[in-house]
Amino acid sequence: MKRINNFNAGPAALPLEVLQQVREELLDYHGQGLSVMEMSHRSKTFDGIIRGAEDLMKELMGIPDDYQVLFMQGGATLQFAAVPLNLMEDGATADYVNTGAWSDKAIKEARKLGKNVRVVAGSDDQNFSYIPADIPVNTDAAYLHITSNNTIFGTQFSQYPDTGNVPLICDMSSDINCRPIDVSRFDLIYAGAQKNMGPSGVTIVIMKKALLEKSPASLPTMLNYNIIAGKGSMYNTPPTFAIYIIKLVLEWMKKQGGLTAIEKTNRKKAELLYNAIDRSDFYRGTVRPDSRSLMNVTFRLPSEELEKQFIAEALEHDLLGVKGHRSVGGIRASIYNAVPLGAVEALVGFMEAFEKKNG
Ligand SMILES: *Cc1c(COP(=O)(O)O)cnc(C)c1O
Repeated sequence: MKRINNFNAGPAALPLEVLQQVREELLDYHGQGLSVMEMSHRSKTFDGIIRGAEDLMKELMGIPDDYQVLFMQGGATLQFAAVPLNLMEDGATADYVNTGAWSDKAIKEARKLGKNVRVVAGSDDQNFSYIPADIPVNTDAAYLHITSNNTIFGTQFSQYPDTGNVPLICDMSSDINCRPIDVSRFDLIYAGAQKNMGPSGVTIVIMKKALLEKSPASLPTMLNYNIIAGKGSMYNTPPTFAIYIIKLVLEWMKKQGGLTAIEKTNRKKAELLYNAIDRSDFYRGTVRPDSRSLMNVTFRLPSEELEKQFIAEALEHDLLGVKGHRSVGGIRASIYNAVPLGAVEALVGFMEAFEKKNG
């Protein structure tokens, strides 16, 4: 069996142990003679899986009791619409921080729905290479929206803004559970699963229960947080297999020692890569050091020609997915939780050899 070193940005690497367990349980889940894919979402067994996933999420992240965990569909992209539709009353204004392509999409989607959006801070003046330090908080805002990790540009908030009574909403798609966070600082967190949590097709929403009553009854049912919450994320058929794998990934995270241990490994991985970039004149990081992401490491080579060659030769060395996003070019290594330290060591080794040959 071949397992490649997978630096894909999303869908991305899953823990080998999880895939092995999926294989083990694929044809006959716990002696029931069928796959999780084939069982009713109303069965007692699936109910155990979805509630188990929810409970594990609460335990790992330390989610307070006055928060609701939801499993939705439509990806983080549908949340760009769901958030303003549920949380903005008529005439309200919401504040957004624009730290990259995904923030920008969230802003555009809200505006498309006719919502008043104020961009209160951003880093577009320097090609999204940093996280702005001063984020003004307007007390009249319906909420402040941030993107905790900018998957394409490789920046990440190391500290979150203190918004006082203004609800803080966060797109955590590409760094959820990469480190412990204080969930109580946020009013709503959402994340497409396919970066750090599981397969694509399911989106996690963690929100203050008190916000549920804001959902207008006129919303399409599948966008209405209040209805989805009332039905335990099973108003209709949920993505059952994806939720099952999320549960396995959460169990794997717990086995690693929880989020504190995971953060330690993530820091080690990121440090290895950033140190390799910093000690070379050949590689050049694209992000201000204080804004560097633990999850997506972006850098350039002296020419686009060399970058092309780097990507091709990396693949020959079983290093997959190091091509930067098509909108920015360059190199990007996504080193999510499930990417083992050994894979990063292999990449660093390759980088050194490539520089020796071409530098
Ligand atoms: C990948 C990503 C998205 C888009 O997620 P989908 O689930 O494909 O809609 C949104 N925001 C961030 C930060 C992302 O990394």
